[in-house]
Amino acid sequence: MQTMDFYPMVISRYPQDQDHAPTLADPAAARLVPAVDIAVGDVILAVVDAMGCDYFNEEYTANPTDFDPKCECGVCCEVAEEDGPIVVLTADYRGSGCCDPMLAKTLFLAVPAAVT
Ligand SMILES: [Zn+2]
Repeated sequence: MQTMDFYPMVISRYPQDQDHAPTLADPAAARLVPAVDIAVGDVILAVVDAMGCDYFNEEYTANPTDFDPKCECGVCCEVAEEDGPIVVLTADYRGSGCCDPMLAKTLFLAVPAAVT
C-alpha cells in the first residue's frame, strides 16, 4: 500500500512573463514535495506555502547534500539556528558556490527526476 499526503494548497500556473524563464520541465508533471524528499535530479520550480505558489524566476536541478552548520558558504550560517532539521538542496546554487539550505518541512513544487 502506498500512502499519499494531501496539502490544502492552491497551485497557480507557471507564469508566462518576462520575469520567468521558460521552463524546460513539464509543469504538469510537478508534484508537491517536502525538502527532505527532494532527490538528485528533481527540477525545482517553486516554493509553496499556505499563501500560494511562489515560482522561482528560473527552475533549477537539485543535488541534495547533508547540511553542515559549519559550512563556510555564507548561507548555511544564516539558517543554522532555524527551528527544525535542515537539508541542502544543492551545494552550488546556480553556480554561486553557495548552498541552498531549507527547513526539511518546506514544501516545493518539483518535477521528479524520473519524469524529466
Ligand atoms: Zn553552505
